[in-house]
Amino acid sequence: MPRKSTLSKGLAVAFAVLAVSAIGGMVSMMIVFKIQTSNLTMTERPTEPTTTLAPPPVMRLPRSLIPERYEILVHPHFYSRIVEEVNVTTPNQTLFFNGSSTVYFRCHQPTKYIFLHSFELSVSPLLVKDHDENGQLKVTSYQHHDDESDFLEIELEENLKTDGNYSLSLYFEGEISEYLQAMYVSRYTETNFDSPTSARRLFPCFDEPDMKAVFQLTVIHRVGTFALSNTLQQSKQINTDWKYTKFFSTPKMSSYLLAFTISEFLAMDSPKSRVNIKTYARPEAIAARHTQYAAGITAKILEFYEGHFELQYGFQHLGQVALPDLEPLAMENWGLITYQEGALLYEEGVSSLLHKEVITTIIAHELAHQWFGNQVTMKWWNEVWLNEGFATYMSYLAVNHAEPSFQIKLIMDDLHAAFEEDALLTSHPLSAPPNDVQTTGEILGMFNAISYSKGAMVLRMLANYVGEKAFDDGIRARNGKSQYKVSNIMEYWTTQMGYPVITINTTSGAIYQKHFLYNSSAVSRYGLTWLIPITFTTNISGLNNVWLDKKGPGNEFISKKGEWILANVNATGYYRVNYNLENWERLLWQLETNPSVKKYVHVFSTIFYHEKERSVVMGSLVDILWKRNIQDNLYFFPRRLQKSQRRANSDVFSMFRYICLSQLCTDEAFFCLLFSIHTNLRSVIYCQAVAAGGKKEWEFAWEKFQSSTDTSEKDQLRKALSCTKQTWLLNRYLSYTLDPDKIRLMDATSTINLIAQNAAGQALAWNFIRLPHFCVFNHINLCLQLIRFKDNTEMNGAYRATLQAIEQTQVNIQWVKENHDTVLEWFERETAHLE
Ligand SMILES: [Zn+2]
Repeated sequence: MPRKSTLSKGLAVAFAVLAVSAIGGMVSMMIVFKIQTSNLTMTERPTEPTTTLAPPPVMRLPRSLIPERYEILVHPHFYSRIVEEVNVTTPNQTLFFNGSSTVYFRCHQPTKYIFLHSFELSVSPLLVKDHDENGQLKVTSYQHHDDESDFLEIELEENLKTDGNYSLSLYFEGEISEYLQAMYVSRYTETNFDSPTSARRLFPCFDEPDMKAVFQLTVIHRVGTFALSNTLQQSKQINTDWKYTKFFSTPKMSSYLLAFTISEFLAMDSPKSRVNIKTYARPEAIAARHTQYAAGITAKILEFYEGHFELQYGFQHLGQVALPDLEPLAMENWGLITYQEGALLYEEGVSSLLHKEVITTIIAHELAHQWFGNQVTMKWWNEVWLNEGFATYMSYLAVNHAEPSFQIKLIMDDLHAAFEEDALLTSHPLSAPPNDVQTTGEILGMFNAISYSKGAMVLRMLANYVGEKAFDDGIRARNGKSQYKVSNIMEYWTTQMGYPVITINTTSGAIYQKHFLYNSSAVSRYGLTWLIPITFTTNISGLNNVWLDKKGPGNEFISKKGEWILANVNATGYYRVNYNLENWERLLWQLETNPSVKKYVHVFSTIFYHEKERSVVMGSLVDILWKRNIQDNLYFFPRRLQKSQRRANSDVFSMFRYICLSQLCTDEAFFCLLFSIHTNLRSVIYCQAVAAGGKKEWEFAWEKFQSSTDTSEKDQLRKALSCTKQTWLLNRYLSYTLDPDKIRLMDATSTINLIAQNAAGQALAWNFIRLPHFCVFNHINLCLQLIRFKDNTEMNGAYRATLQAIEQTQVNIQWVKENHDTVLEWFERETAHLE
């Protein structure tokens, strides 16, 4: 799922703002998976001693009781509409919910205590039944732990017996969140509830991913609304003001996958397929057919996965809901996937191609989770890369099937996201020891580019090594060929942080590997080496494969006839490659005389951070790219652009055009005015218009933003508003993030990040988030991170992000020091004739 942290590379960027954007990036990742991790705050088990000399505490529920089935009744008392009438007393809105639940469980070890999770719920009275002897057990006491564990501890008069079948029934009451957590109210006239997970905030439960159980849910909601959940409606009953919707039992699943919504949304059906797919959204979005693209592509992707995995999706139905407010971009709840509107709604002629790419990618990722994550789930959050890496890798295959032109950018984005984060000393292995991932901060810290992007890249390398067919067979049968060898190789890549750079000398044939770090003066503390499957090709031979371990291969890499050698073909390996200068020159010559997208991909994936050869190679490559792509296009750009708009909308060229235009518009606003605004280019042009203008232009854009009901257009305008160079307007914009009527809760943090990315807004944003009022309003998540950030003795997600920001800044400074002269020289040479 959607994640991506962006750290500015400019030397001028001060640490403070890097820290902000790192926290922001982390917060955005955190948001994406808040649902899975929210409040998994495990502290020490209460019965164990807490001295500094004790071994690291185990902060997990005891395994003495294992849940099997829940029966839950939830009743939110919220009014979806309050109509004011003359002479009639209007009811007060209420954010209260209550309900009852019974959990059936089995005892695996005798115990007098029942531990489960319950967060900010009042719980009473308790009934514990023995189903083998048809008796009742006396509860002597119960208490909520007053710490981060969220434990509800219930003490019984006598022991529960091994293999005994019991149940616990209770009533609960809680408050609906205004901050998009657990069950919350979306600020939209069509009131909407969503409780994607944070199950312990809704009802007391065993809220850990491997404590799978069957859930049977009944929701009581106001007449005039309707409820959706993971399964279809089994029965409904109406009682004057209230409707009781009972859902079928779910399959055995993790509590974080439970979801329900209450809304007045309408649905669009997907084209006929084996599974009945419905896409739900605001009635006006359905009427305008903004759900049409998602409805079509979902059917296509689901069918692809069923064929690919040779395993049917678990239900006969699939609901997907476009929510006006949702803090993750999307959440893979089994059978009821929830999305932010922007991640699902697409408007032909208004939304950009990039937006379409985002929608396709997110849908492909969430659908992959219906197998990887929902059917097969990681045991604990230290292995979250298994969920996320597999879903990300599988989404490449699905995107290639549904929208082939999007795939290459998608893979390259992930490769570089992983390369960037994993080249820091502050990175971590894919798979961490469970004891290292216990606190909320440690769990949140695992939801990053390593788990998503590196996870996917390592799987891609493995699939390339064993062959895609064998890889798929291995997934299907969970018993791939040469299993031993595979797990042996994988260990190098999953239990060690970082990745290697391979250096090849084509004159002597020497080849060696080294832990790659951005900071070339840093010393890798662990002396890491990898077992590396290397693919390579030359201009006179086809594809070759060799292994590189500590000893290295034979003489494969000697260039006997002056041929070039290119390793890591199609960038399928998770490593960088460096060569001797002669080979670089041959490769660059090849690139210049016979360019192809694939070869660019290679060179891009390896080139940017090499050591001695870096300056020369960088200079030459910039030279080639400049000549090929930018300079050639500059004079004819508007004409070419107009021409290219007529071409098919869906190719890499459109992306390239977008990038070129953002460069050109920055310097030459003139070019931007020469053609009508194509949807793919709108965001760049809006941004430049606001940046070039003053109060009048900004207010015009603000007015448009407020009045627009189109998700795409609104998003482009929200970004553009952060582009102004007027600090007082940026200050005004920052203050709007405190008012959910102006900037929606889910957009508040990213709006501050956008402002922080504007050079004129960096200091403002940093000062803004440190103001006392900041934590009072709607920035709860960011605020929590800042509090932890201040108390940085704790090794939590914010702390790791801070360390990464510091390291990244040092690397940026070093990079500029080393490359400043080369780049400057190049610019002076290239611009000498322009006077
Ligand atoms: Zn995911």
